[in-house]
Amino acid sequence: MQKAIYPGSFDPITYGHLDIIERAADVFDEVVVVIMSNDEKKGTFTNEERMDMVQHVIKKFKNVSVQIGHGLTVDYARSLGANILIRGIRAVTDYEYEMQLATANMVLAPDVHTVFLVAKPEYSFLSSSTAKSIASYKGDITAFVPNYVKKKLEEKYR
Ligand code: ADP
Repeated sequence: MQKAIYPGSFDPITYGHLDIIERAADVFDEVVVVIMSNDEKKGTFTNEERMDMVQHVIKKFKNVSVQIGHGLTVDYARSLGANILIRGIRAVTDYEYEMQLATANMVLAPDVHTVFLVAKPEYSFLSSSTAKSIASYKGDITAFVPNYVKKKLEEKYR
């Protein structure tokens, strides 16, 4: 059985993340979305709020679940019995950072493999920060995040 984790901040989850999740769920038997808690980076939403939003939008996938993760991503993957890390690549700007991360993880844990999925063209500009920035100016984020997340963002920036 091929089990993969999709680690990230998901602050909050966008249609770009959801597309990666959908495609990963097609390829792997089980996908666990892992909200990696980061003490250095205080986010907009709490880990629990992010998890609630992810939970809400992954309901339609039978083989996808969500957890809050701690520590090194590779250690967390191993603790779940997963040897695949999914990451998304949007543009060249993601490439350098993602290569660094994947290479460091490869050195730390050669048994854990990073698999990159390329963003859909319509989401290649989309990030959680873009959605938050538009929401903060009361712009329409319907095209960027699922309805449940849209409501939470609107509440946050009310
Ligand atoms: P992180 O802080 O770890 O980069 P994010 O939640 O921003 O966490 O992203 C998690 C992963 O999803 C990263 O690999 C990122 O490149 C990818 N990702 C983010 N937005 C998109 C998108 N619109 N399309 C495809 N992949 C994306």
